[in-house]
Amino acid sequence: MKVGNIQIGGNDQVVIQSMTTTKTHDVKATVEQIRRLEEAGCQIVRVAVPDMRAAEAIPSIKKEISVPLVADIHFDYRLALKAIEGGIDKIRINPGNIGRRDKVEAVVKAAKERGIPIRIGVNAGSLEKRILEKYGYPTADGMVESALYHIGILEDLDFTDIVVSLKASDVRLAIEAYRKAAAAFRYPLHLGITESGTLFSGTVKSAAGLGALLAQGIGSTIRISLSADPVEEVKVARELLKAFGLAANAATLIACPTCGRIEIDLISIANEIEEYIANIKAPIKVSVLGCAVNGPGEAREADIGIAGARGEGLLFRHGKIVRKIPEEKMVEELKKEIDKLAEEYRHK
Ligand code: SF4
Repeated sequence: MKVGNIQIGGNDQVVIQSMTTTKTHDVKATVEQIRRLEEAGCQIVRVAVPDMRAAEAIPSIKKEISVPLVADIHFDYRLALKAIEGGIDKIRINPGNIGRRDKVEAVVKAAKERGIPIRIGVNAGSLEKRILEKYGYPTADGMVESALYHIGILEDLDFTDIVVSLKASDVRLAIEAYRKAAAAFRYPLHLGITESGTLFSGTVKSAAGLGALLAQGIGSTIRISLSADPVEEVKVARELLKAFGLAANAATLIACPTCGRIEIDLISIANEIEEYIANIKAPIKVSVLGCAVNGPGEAREADIGIAGARGEGLLFRHGKIVRKIPEEKMVEELKKEIDKLAEEYRHK
């Protein structure tokens, strides 16, 4: 499946998504935020489309950006049609909530004509009344049943360009729902723990829930929902995917926890290097270690790294020391070596 120029599913990468927090009709602010998200590594951006003003802004937004854009729509099929007409790359709408069949048909027909996928977004907090009555409260089975209900509507209209999400703010419930969904149907899954919280607690919660799923090979796209600047969502998503080797062309940092053998100001160096590699588009492993006693050996899998020694740093590649660098030049030299490796990777 493709969303704009981005491939979803069928490869070993998970695609990073985030959502803007600006008013979508404010084109300037929305475009500005989308650009920041893209720069941070966001591969698909979603915008809320709560009204016609927002839907009408889509062509102007699309003109200014290159990242694929998703319209988040609830109920109103006219907004979906307007968004599709305006060049949106995907819509998030639950067909069962649109209403009359002719309205659903109109949306599906338009999406089909333009080759636009539809995401069905099941949310534990807004399950259909009859499902809630059947199960008594939101359950994983109820969430999967809801997903299958919406999928059924689209399949009946011969539409299968479908992505499904089953979000819950309860981590265990979300994990169970996604696992059951992965067993119940084969459509790509968009992962998320909804309303997960602030930067710190939301990061931990999302990493716990989504990590459990990613470890099992579940998930094609991912969004970390945080009560924070959405750029932070992208940073967290990237880091999480890196941990599973699922991020496209991302550099990773290995830093030692430090101990009594430490010889350099490791924490500030690690932070500086981490920030530096955030925008490096090559799968390089960089290591920063406090001492030379165990350091290089501990980071044998790193492509490049430094280990602190008295008044200097030892530069090493794949666990072997290649040269010494005076302490004050350590960070600068390491950055140069990282650039060299990234350049080599580009020419591979
Ligand atoms: Fe301690 Fe050196 Fe290992 Fe860092 S690399 S934890 S300073 S032994």
